[in-house]
Amino acid sequence: MKSPKKTLMKRVHGAMFKLPLMITCDEFESFILAYLEGQLPKRQKIVFEFHLKACRECRDYLNAYRASVELAKVAHAAQLSELSDDAPEDLVAAILAAREA
Ligand SMILES: [Zn+2]
Repeated sequence: MKSPKKTLMKRVHGAMFKLPLMITCDEFESFILAYLEGQLPKRQKIVFEFHLKACRECRDYLNAYRASVELAKVAHAAQLSELSDDAPEDLVAAILAAREA
């Protein structure tokens, strides 16, 4: 005699395996960097975007995260140009003049 319970469990497990659309906010957070760099595998990207639609908190978090990444890039670029020798002389003169004033 077959156990109907076992069959049901198998079916549920199979469905979950096919559609693992629920991730926690912690898991979402750990995917963010890869997502922004376009390195998430297709399936994880679907899961990620599903959570993004469903969870307002994570949507806000992603926006803030993206903004801070952009800011870091700009700051890094600014730092690089400060270190380079070919800063426009007019600008340097202007800064020095402003300092003396
Ligand atoms: Zn979330």
